[in-house]
Amino acid sequence: MAKKIPLIDLDSSGSCAASHSETNDLSRRQFLLGSGVSIASILGAAALVTGCDDAPSQVSWAEHFQSNYRLMTDEEKRVTVNRLEQRYSAEYGKNVTVDTSEAQAGVLFGYALNIQKCIGCRRCVKACVEENNASRKAKQNIEWIRVLQMEKGNFSREKLEDGYPGDYGMQVGGHAYSAAGVLLEGNHYYDVDSVPEAGAHYMPVACMQCEKPPCVKVCPVRATYREADGPVVVDYNWCIGCRMCMQACPYWARRFNWSKPVLPAEKMNPQTHYLGNRPRMKGVVEKCTFCIQRVRKGRYPACVEACPVGARKFGNLLDPESEVRRVLDKKRVFRLKAEANTYPKFFYYSD
Ligand code: SF4
Ligand code: SF4
Repeated sequence: MAKKIPLIDLDSSGSCAASHSETNDLSRRQFLLGSGVSIASILGAAALVTGCDDAPSQVSWAEHFQSNYRLMTDEEKRVTVNRLEQRYSAEYGKNVTVDTSEAQAGVLFGYALNIQKCIGCRRCVKACVEENNASRKAKQNIEWIRVLQMEKGNFSREKLEDGYPGDYGMQVGGHAYSAAGVLLEGNHYYDVDSVPEAGAHYMPVACMQCEKPPCVKVCPVRATYREADGPVVVDYNWCIGCRMCMQACPYWARRFNWSKPVLPAEKMNPQTHYLGNRPRMKGVVEKCTFCIQRVRKGRYPACVEACPVGARKFGNLLDPESEVRRVLDKKRVFRLKAEANTYPKFFYYSD
């Protein structure tokens, strides 16, 4: 039976009123109750500590105990977004918008990257950080894209034998080699001033927006999920920071905010989406969303626009005339770690 617990209710204006609300459906409060934590005592203590005049604390408690975004009514979404817009605008000194545009029918976003063209310049990484309001802290620079520098290979017999020094084709010690004798472990700490280096190729990796995302399966509170148009997103207010999703992801695509992210006001991108680039907080996971705040408005992801050699293509996989579909139809295409059965919507190709 649902329990009645005392809550501090906050309306969109931030005013404070004590009330008794009945819990409904599966909520964050019930999850915590199930784990033995007394919410009444937490909120009682919070009321004592914060008092009713402390607006920032009230907002923070309201955010912490808000519903899962997917379960919110339109009215709850409106109140939540209003509160966030007010808080971000005050914090960054500019008019910040939090978009809630939803997936459109007949759209499934996909990405294709030409690894023959990529020169490893990392302009995509920079554009992604700037667009997505990533933390700029010196020792916690959060980047959703990693560009791996890898050895160029060929299928010569000499190379093949290089890669398998032991008997019976068994590799003894050393690094991991492909069947072509090419070192498989990429280096993402290469010197960007000397690219493109002879004998190297570059492979940018970010979230693959898997059709069968293992990260979604393991999330104990359903804070992360696949949207109908493809991107896998995180409800930052619902994430409990357990990092199960990070362990499950075969692509090292997720990042954790170990400390409060640093986002200088002058660098803050004020056009945000609730499920995308809005500012994150300490203790939550984040990742690429194909720039959901852009693509749902008919724009390209920031990395596509920033690439100086046109290595990145993006579009609607369900539209046979889209750029990305043309690549899939006409080029040699592969998916990273296809054997993991994650069915990425991120494809690599060569000319
Ligand atoms: S860290 Fe990952 S698995 Fe854990 S709650 Fe957050 S999104 Fe879900
Ligand atoms: S690449 Fe990783 S984070 Fe992205 S959807 Fe797949 S499993 Fe999840």
